[in-house]
Amino acid sequence: MTDCIFCKIIKGDIPSYKIYEDDNVYAFLDIAEDYYGHTLVVSKKHCENMLDCDSETLAGIMTAVQKISRHYVDNCGFDGVNIINNSGVSAGQSVMHLHMHILPRKADDGVNLWPEREKLGIDLKQLHNQLKLQ
Ligand code: 5GP
Ligand code: ZN
Repeated sequence: MTDCIFCKIIKGDIPSYKIYEDDNVYAFLDIAEDYYGHTLVVSKKHCENMLDCDSETLAGIMTAVQKISRHYVDNCGFDGVNIINNSGVSAGQSVMHLHMHILPRKADDGVNLWPEREKLGIDLKQLHNQLKLQ
């Protein structure tokens, strides 16, 4: 897609710090510098996000996410990873091209991506009726 920033990065029209590439994905460092090692894994096929992509594209991106994550833990001094995907503007997606965020983690890095929250007092039985697929 011509005016998509990630398509331009994949093509090399915009420079990036490449971490990994295969037939399905292109992975590079996020420009935000907000988390140490913040990496984006982008599908080579332009899909908007996880909601509209085909399962083959999703499988390709997740296989690469696992490969890069294992590399970070096995060879780069990290202890674990958080994998984040924002699908849809309401979920915080700002670039409308399918991508996964890898946030490499260390035991003592002080990052809290899932802060504790007050219970909402939800009726779980009603919620179950509303959300179940079968
Ligand atoms: P989203 O909010 O869509 O889930 O994530 C988009 C990510 O792309 C953000 O973390 C943002 O920092 C990153 N990003 C946006 N433009 C560029 C760019 O030109 N180069 C790189 N390396 N990252 C970018
Ligand atoms: Zn694109």
